[in-house]
Formats: sequence, structure tokens, C-alpha cells
Amino acid sequence: MVLVPTVVVIGAGFGGLEVARHLRGTPVDITLIDQNNFHTFQPLLYQVATAGLNAADVAHAVRGLFHKQSNVRFRHGRVTGVDWDARMVAVADQPDVPFDHLVLAGGATVTYFGIPGAEEHGFPLYTLEDATRLRNHVVRRFEAADTDPAELDRGGLTFVVVGGGPTGVETAGALAELFAMVFRKDYPGLEVSRARVVLVEMQDHLLHPFTASSRRHALHALRSRGVDVRLGAKVASVGADAVTFADGEVLPCQTLVWAAGVQASSLAATIGLTQDRGGRVVVGPDLRIPGRPDAWAIGDIAAARDRKGELLPQLAPVAMQAGRHVARQIGRLLEARPTEPFRYRDKGTMATIGRRAAVAELPGRIRLSGAPAWLAWLGLHLVFLVGKRNRASVLLSWAWNYLTWDRGPRLILDRSPRSTGT
Ligand SMILES: Cc1cc2nc3c(=O)[nH]c(=O)nc-3n(C[C@H](O)[C@H](O)[C@H](O)COP(=O)(O)OP(=O)(O)OC[C@H]3O[C@@H](n4cnc5c(N)ncnc54)[C@H](O)[C@@H]3O)c2cc1C
Repeated sequence: MVLVPTVVVIGAGFGGLEVARHLRGTPVDITLIDQNNFHTFQPLLYQVATAGLNAADVAHAVRGLFHKQSNVRFRHGRVTGVDWDARMVAVADQPDVPFDHLVLAGGATVTYFGIPGAEEHGFPLYTLEDATRLRNHVVRRFEAADTDPAELDRGGLTFVVVGGGPTGVETAGALAELFAMVFRKDYPGLEVSRARVVLVEMQDHLLHPFTASSRRHALHALRSRGVDVRLGAKVASVGADAVTFADGEVLPCQTLVWAAGVQASSLAATIGLTQDRGGRVVVGPDLRIPGRPDAWAIGDIAAARDRKGELLPQLAPVAMQAGRHVARQIGRLLEARPTEPFRYRDKGTMATIGRRAAVAELPGRIRLSGAPAWLAWLGLHLVFLVGKRNRASVLLSWAWNYLTWDRGPRLILDRSPRSTGT
């Protein structure tokens, strides 16, 4: 039996999957470890939270992705540390996993910037569980208000979304459409028009990475859907039944969606590597971890920089391109060739606001808005969604939702009287 080097990849997200896939045909044994037995397509989580898609549409069992790749094994478990001298990865309640090459692709998680009550009462949108919990809670608020309309005065139908980046804009737009198009019919006895969606952004504009015209388009599209967009506003504290703003205003509200902060996964700290301010692992130009010639960090967990020294954004294409780069570099090292620096190719940014409304900024200064941007957004997300069955299911749901002005799974899947953010 010929022994080949072992590559351990921690995280089966956008970056980790690309490493494993692009080592197909390379003489290595790959162990892909993830705390979930599935990959999550985070860009569509907000559609699960707003009853546009089923949870299973945006996730895919990792094992099912590698039926045709014999050099990949999957380990379902949570990584708790790395013994660099013994070259072993520690996995909770399981035997250690040996490695010759190690790739950290543990992604990012939410941060609440220390705002009192935000973690306790806010609803983050980072995992499939987060999305399902938020949907349960939103539908439950409408059921409660239908039973007791006084809930409206207690902020039962006031939904505050914090963060004017793509996730906040998409969630606010989708909630407004859900209420206006679907809940209006689901709850004929309720004054659904009194439901409020408030989008709060600290800066004086939405969609920070976009140009001024795209920002204006998004602002106008949200306001025309009835979203109360508050720019230059800051949340000071969050309670179970109210949110307090920095200017002293207290808004009765039972749902606060936290779409404001991202920090690298706690894996980076667990492993004890040098981190930047956002907790990201410092990497060299080829994405290797300084002082660890056989270890790499990619995607949201890595502080990778472009040629000008600017930090690369925490976006799926960055993680995917980095994954492909690291797979190539491992191949080069096996052939005793030097590594190459990572060069990110920016292929543009998009955000959708709702039905026939989106903004897209593509290479060559191509700027799209409205229906063309929306179609581009739909097409691109379908292409990148993992799994043919998921693509077919999402396409069908989108077509159904578009043609019938309806939504799918408005289900409450927990029995607790009140879902909380944590
Ligand atoms: C709501 C939302 C919307 C987004 N929308 C967009 C968008 O429209 N466009 C875009 O480009 N980007 C978007 N992003 C960002 C994009 O999803 C991330 O940049 C991308 O997922 C990063 O890929 P990654 O491989 O670094 O991490 P991830 O895809 O997050 O994968 C990390 C994996 O590591 C696993 N993991 C973490 N810690 C451990 C551990 N200790 N042990 C075992 N496994 C572990 C996790 O379970 C996870 O599966 C969005 C993100 C969110 C949250």
C-alpha cells in the first residue's frame, strides 16, 4: 500500500468544499471535518427566515457531495484544538485526526459589539437553525396578534432589522413583502398594514460597498415597500419588548434581527493563532499561516489581503477562490515547486431588495438595478447553490412565489410560547 500525504480541511463551507473538490486527482487523502453534517448556503438563509424557501433547499449533506471522489472522507465533529508538534487535530469526543497539510476554513460568526441585550434578545442570521428560529418567531408573532390585537400596541408586529448591509437590506425587503403579499391574506381579521419593518443603519447610507446610485436605488425600493429606513441611527440596548436607540427613543418591539456584525469563528482563538482585530487568522501572501509551512487559512476566518494590502471582504467568492488556490498550492508543494501568491479576482457584488428589485455592480463598471439586476441575482444564486436537487427545488419555489404571489413554509416548528434570539 502506498502512503500518501493527509490533508485535513476544517469546515465544509464555501472554502473548504472547494479545497476538497480541487484536490480530486491529487495523490492525497483528504479528511473534511465539520460540526454540521451539511453545507449551508448562507446567502439564501434570509429566504428561509421569511418563508420563501424550505430549510433543506439551502443545505446539502456533505457526504452526498463526494460520492464520486474516493480520496475524500468526512468526519462529523467539532474541532477543539490543534497539536502542532504531533500534527494532530483534536475533535470533541472523538479520536484525534493526523495531518500533513491543514486547511482552516471555519468561517465566521456573529458579533454584537457588546450592545446590552442584543445577544439575549436579538435574532442572528448565520445558521440554518437561526433562520428557522426567526421564521418560527415571526409567524408566532402574527398568530399572537391575531388572537389578541392589543399585541400591536405592545410592538408584537414591529420588526427591527439592525444593519444596512446586504443581509439587512434583503431581510427587511423580504419581511415587508411577506407581510404585504401573504400575511395580509393569511390574517384577514388582523390589521396587517400596522405591521412595521424598521431597518436601522449607523452610517448615513445603506449597502456600504456599493456606489451612491445603487445605494439610492436600494433606499428608494425599501421605502416604497413601506420599510422605515433609519440612517445614522444607533441601537443602544435591546430588551424582550423594546429597543432603545442612542437618541433615547424607546420603540416597543418583540423582534430584533441582528444583521450587523461579523467576527471570525472561535476556531481561530481555540487554535491559538495570531489574529487581526476581527479575530481573523493572519496569513501570508500565499495564504499559509506564518511559521506553519503546511497550514493554511481561507475564507471568512482568514485575514487575506489584496495587492494594495487591503483586507479582502468576507464573501463567498473570496472563500471559493482561496479554496481553489490552496488546493493548487498543495499540489505544487507535493511536486517540490514554490507556492504562488493568492490573487482575488473581483467579479462584482449584488444585493436584492425584493420582487424585481435588486442592485448589481459588475466588472467593467456595469451597473444594473431593478428587474435586470434581480434576474442576474436569481441566476447567479442558482448557479452557485450546492446540489442539483436544491437548484431544482429553489427554482420551482421562486417560480411559484413569483406567479402566485404566495410563499411556502409559513410553519412554526417549535412549541415554546415565545422563541428568543438565543
Ligand atoms: C446571512 C448571510 C448572507 C450572506 N450573503 C452573501 C452573499 O449574498 N454573497 C456573498 O458572496 N457572501 C454572502 N455571505 C458571506 C458568505 O456566506 C461567507 O463569506 C462564506 O460562507 C465564507 O465561506 P467560508 O468557507 O469561509 O465559511 P463558511 O461557509 O461559513 O463555512 C465554515 C464551516 O466551518 C464549520 N466550522 C466552524 N467552526 C468549526 C469547528 N470548530 N469544528 C468543525 N467545523 C467548524 C461551520 O460549521 C461551517 O460549515 C453571507 C453570509 C451570511 C451569514
